[in-house]
Amino acid sequence: MEKLKIEIELANIEGLNVTLHENYNSFKKYIKTTSPKIKIELVHTLMKNPKLESELSRCDTEYWKIMNKENLEEISKSNLIEIGSHGFTHSNLDQIEKSELTNELINSKNSLQESIGKKVESIAFPDGAYNQLVKEECHEIGYKRLLAVNYRCETDNNDPTILPRLSISNTTTSDAVIIQSNLSYSKTGF
Ligand SMILES: [Zn+2]
Repeated sequence: MEKLKIEIELANIEGLNVTLHENYNSFKKYIKTTSPKIKIELVHTLMKNPKLESELSRCDTEYWKIMNKENLEEISKSNLIEIGSHGFTHSNLDQIEKSELTNELINSKNSLQESIGKKVESIAFPDGAYNQLVKEECHEIGYKRLLAVNYRCETDNNDPTILPRLSISNTTTSDAVIIQSNLSYSKTGF
């Protein structure tokens, strides 16, 4: 499958002058390490970029298409599925300011709750990144199940709110699901 390649020219975003002519990997690295505020501005600007549609049309739809509100509503009706948060801007929660952390946790929770009309009480940490402060803030805001990748805090083994996870995407094979399930049971996953 062809990797998503986007040539982007972004200029004069509030307080920031960004010009990127980058390939997928360096853009991914850039967007991972930038602050949630700039990330939101970048995404909004990118969505308005007239080149975006033609760039995306060159890639396999399954690679970039995401669920919309109606899809979420529909699957949330299943008793087998629980919709949880994965942050608002997919930022590494242990790397951002306290106020940004609070926003990530509250905005993602509220926006999903509004979409599905149900309480959102689970969160899978983006990149599996968290620390004690992130855990405490999650509890404070009302998350009851925190899905980690590798356990990172000394208290995790005795903390019933911390759970291991495995992820399944459109590129995950059935063999990979078996391996991941085994790893997940030994409290290390993806
Ligand atoms: Zn993720």
